[in-house]
Amino acid sequence: MTRLALIAHDEKKDDLIEFVQEHEAQLAQYELIGTGTTSGRLMDETDLEVEAQASGPLGGDLVIGGEIAEGRLDGLIFLRDPLTAQPHEPDVSALLRICDVHNTPLATNLASARYLLEGLESEA
Ligand code: PGA
Repeated sequence: MTRLALIAHDEKKDDLIEFVQEHEAQLAQYELIGTGTTSGRLMDETDLEVEAQASGPLGGDLVIGGEIAEGRLDGLIFLRDPLTAQPHEPDVSALLRICDVHNTPLATNLASARYLLEGLESEA
């Protein structure tokens, strides 16, 4: 089964919710995992089940990076806020890096997230 991770920084959470609601039928076919606050909001505001990990600043990004290192994830949508400094920037960098190490599809904005979902759908 396709396994996809979803993360959004605070300023991008509304965008992610809207995007996920638009693609809810497709995403309902996937196993979803996300950082704590992002997952909580997704479960409150959609009918999807999301495996909630720790909040990003508390290590959630690293947990998701660990899944990528183990080859468990088919993709990551990570709507980063490029205009706000994040206390856990080293974790964010580690997560982006490990995607590249493992050639894991990664979308960091809505335009690329659309392509990522199209790609996953075409491979199904
Ligand atoms: P959050 O973490 O979903 O717990 O807010 C996201 C992040 O800041 O990486």
